[in-house]
Amino acid sequence: MTRVAVVGAGPSGVFAAAALLDRRPDVHVDVYDRSPTPFGLVRYGVAPDHLKIKSVARALSRTLGDPRVRFHGNVDIGPDVPLAALRAHYPAVVLATGSPGTNGLGIPGADLPGHMPAGDLVDWYNGRPGARPAPAERRRVAVIGGGNVALDAARILLRGGSGLRHTDVPEHVLRDLDEHPTTDVHLVVRRGPAESRFTPAELAEFESLSDLDLRVDTAALPITDRAGIDRVTATRLATFRRWSTGRARTSGRSLTVHFHSPPVELAGRDRVEYVALPGTRLAVDLVVSAIGFRGRPLPGVPFDPERGTVPHELGRVEPGLYVTGWIKRGPTGVVGTNKACAQETVATLLTDLPTGRSDADPDLTADLPTVTWSGWLAIERAESALGATRARARTTIHDRHRLVRIATEPEGTTP
Ligand code: NAP
Repeated sequence: MTRVAVVGAGPSGVFAAAALLDRRPDVHVDVYDRSPTPFGLVRYGVAPDHLKIKSVARALSRTLGDPRVRFHGNVDIGPDVPLAALRAHYPAVVLATGSPGTNGLGIPGADLPGHMPAGDLVDWYNGRPGARPAPAERRRVAVIGGGNVALDAARILLRGGSGLRHTDVPEHVLRDLDEHPTTDVHLVVRRGPAESRFTPAELAEFESLSDLDLRVDTAALPITDRAGIDRVTATRLATFRRWSTGRARTSGRSLTVHFHSPPVELAGRDRVEYVALPGTRLAVDLVVSAIGFRGRPLPGVPFDPERGTVPHELGRVEPGLYVTGWIKRGPTGVVGTNKACAQETVATLLTDLPTGRSDADPDLTADLPTVTWSGWLAIERAESALGATRARARTTIHDRHRLVRIATEPEGTTP
């Protein structure tokens, strides 16, 4: 049989595996991931209250559970198995490693305690193993950025723990969110509402949160019916117009949007106390920067430091090495965007892959505490059982050792 390796079990890697199975039924796929769990950004990136997007995991499970696919979780390609070893054993390796790095704010005070990249906050509330807890000082928060990740961060903080019990957020995070509630979020956007990248559905979600004042400076809003404006922008502007004219309430919680506000400085004595914007400053306890992600270079793989991606042609880095997803095209688009992206890469890969190969089983993980697909199914059962103890459908287990133990110990031996 012909074997192909995919590095990364997030949506882009799994969509690539699915496209391979679909187009070449004789191909077997080994999917490696450094996390003990599959689904990448669907598990650790998508906001926990976005249950519909999270349910993509069911489709990804069908691919990873296919008898022609093997999941090798808890295997870090590089430190555990060198990429060169993978390339020596597989005629084709697809890198689907995403954009795990974050852009730097690059302003004075950015290294003060009390500033965290949104990626770290997202890791924490989603229960990624090893995530750093969010600082407890977070009653007034500035979220910097005009994209949907900024909205996710603002919404999850404003929902608090009690507003997230219907999700799979780890129990300790729910407790922490309730014990240290956020009451005021300032959304700091460097350009105007028309140029911001918020999507209308994600903005509308704030309108369904109870007891929340929504505020935006009317002066920032252009006329909505100007010629040449596209439908998404018009809907976005209409939303902000609603927020700007909304009745002033006294809800005790607020989301205030500041447009045309490139942050100038973060300042404070020992930690962040305010964000300086042109002409004003906001007193805050925590700053979260949601200003985009970046790919990380992999040893031995070409890298474009400007774009933070691997240069490629239709997914081919060189014959035998391919990229798909955010490491290929940068951190844009929704989960489904990765499907077409993976199909393009797989089409290219298949033009290089000889038919009728008979590849030996490489078995590169024999000495490693690998999480297999049946190990993952044991984790799923444990997370459902843990959820049931608190009348929840499921609770994410965030401790790496516990995840690996559940996945690798014989059934019935793990509490
Ligand atoms: P994004 O949409 O690219 O937004 C990044 C924002 O950061 C932009 O507004 C950008 O402003 C701003 N920015 C960049 N550098 C800055 C700086 N130095 N100072 C101030 N602002 C700065 O990225 P994202 O929010 O990380 O989202 C990544 C992708 O995931 C997007 O395609 C997004 O739609 C998607 N996503 C979707 C959902 C969903 O569908 N529910 C949820 C989360 C993420 P400029 O525009 O001025 O450059």
